[in-house]
Amino acid sequence: MVSRVIPVDPFDLVIFGGTGDLARRKILPGLFRRFNSGQMPEEARIIGAARSDMGREAFQDMIRRAVEEFGGPHDPEALTEFVGRLDYVAVDAMGDGGWEDLKGKLRAGVVRAFYFSVGPSLFGALAERLRGFGLADDDSRVVVEKPFGHDLASARALNVTLREHFHEEQIYRIDHYLGKETVQNLMAVRFGNMLFEPLWNAQYVDHIQITVAETVDVGGRGGYYDKAGAMRDMVQNHLMQLLCLIAMEPPARFEPDSVRDEKLKVIRALDPVDYHQIVRGQYEADDSQPGYRAHVDNQRSTTESFVAMKLAISNWRWAGTPFYLRTGKKLRARASEIAVVFKDAPHSIFGPEAGTHRNVLTIRLQPNEGMTLGVTIKEPGPGGMRLIDVPLDMSFADALGPDAEDVPDAYERLIMDVIRGNQTLFMRGDEVEAAWAWTDPIIEGWTARGDVPKPYDAGSSGPEDALMLMHKDGRKWRDIRV
Ligand code: NAD
Repeated sequence: MVSRVIPVDPFDLVIFGGTGDLARRKILPGLFRRFNSGQMPEEARIIGAARSDMGREAFQDMIRRAVEEFGGPHDPEALTEFVGRLDYVAVDAMGDGGWEDLKGKLRAGVVRAFYFSVGPSLFGALAERLRGFGLADDDSRVVVEKPFGHDLASARALNVTLREHFHEEQIYRIDHYLGKETVQNLMAVRFGNMLFEPLWNAQYVDHIQITVAETVDVGGRGGYYDKAGAMRDMVQNHLMQLLCLIAMEPPARFEPDSVRDEKLKVIRALDPVDYHQIVRGQYEADDSQPGYRAHVDNQRSTTESFVAMKLAISNWRWAGTPFYLRTGKKLRARASEIAVVFKDAPHSIFGPEAGTHRNVLTIRLQPNEGMTLGVTIKEPGPGGMRLIDVPLDMSFADALGPDAEDVPDAYERLIMDVIRGNQTLFMRGDEVEAAWAWTDPIIEGWTARGDVPKPYDAGSSGPEDALMLMHKDGRKWRDIRV
């Protein structure tokens, strides 16, 4: 049963970069779904702001087409009503044109939020003009997209720039992984049940695997990606956030700073990673398709499209339990999951022929969000006591039935949280900086050693060396499959 939709307070949401790819593919289709669910109040207004010189109607047409393309099945009348709420102003972030016009469209007495869906080089200019032209005050909120910097120095500089104009409580740094239903369920499972938390430590957990596998290549983002690589693009933010949620201590309350304080402690407790514990990969060309280097148009590129690593968290809870992380493009399947692999039972009363069996709690982020707990039972039938593992499987789609349609996707949920003023699922400035402080030396080490990624076949599970990373510890990655 999906909880009842409660409309948020009336708001003016300005989307800088409102004509861009992210706005058209994710933000506006997501807002349309919230509109359909009844969460958007009558008085809500959405204003696109971008460089293109177009009128309100042209923007409304653009967004209608975008929702038709990316928004899934919908009622055309509802879409007409939704786009009727949209307005548009041509604004140059770097210039002074359009700002007074935009200011004239904002209303007093409603929540005011500004979504920076533009490149990070414009964040400073936007923040300055929002204050300079009097569009934003101390109650306004700004939402900033990833990437939040490309190293510690640039992330710090961005934080400094934003904080010149806004308080930390006004800044919502998006990591859309945190908006996923299952990711929040991770906290519900851990801290809402008595069953798991007593076992959630090095005494009972053998290791934890986090996999975020994609089948896509670098697509149209080659120029950006080749400068970033999997480490900056995925590990520093998404995988680090998943690691924090799985490993953190129970916060005292489900409140933004309580949760974020605990996440920060996890990042700070991470050991520096020895380079032998990291495998970088780059997908190769095959007969039917070009490889990474052709995709990024750089035949000498040494950027990784895959990374696997073994991490250690030095604290009382986790000392001795390794965390294995991997992510990559052009892999066998699009599958993201966290697997908590428990230790063997201390003694088998069934004898060696029964084999060893381990409980594995798997949290699936995509596809088919849900959770599975592998439990050992007796193989049914005659023939003595043979043990097999069976899954206790909970798929959200099955559990919720038709209501699953109404579960908001990550962007929808996060935008509604901005309007509600709830920062729990957004990264705090010090958290982002701590993640970069941990990431930087790893990348600097690769550069200093002239590290070259290992090639891997498109459609595989990554380079052989990644398999060896676990194999040499007597462990095994879970299959990457849907
Ligand atoms: P895009 O290039 O498609 O769109 C950029 C938008 O910014 C356009 O609307 C453009 O008009 C506007 N713009 C550019 N310069 C401007 C200026 N000087 N003044 C006002 N507006 C200006 O980019 P995108 O893919 O939509 O990405 C936007 C941001 O979101 C980037 O920071 C990107 O890294 C991030 N992001 C994008 C995705 C994605 O899937 N596209 C995913 C995660 C994060």
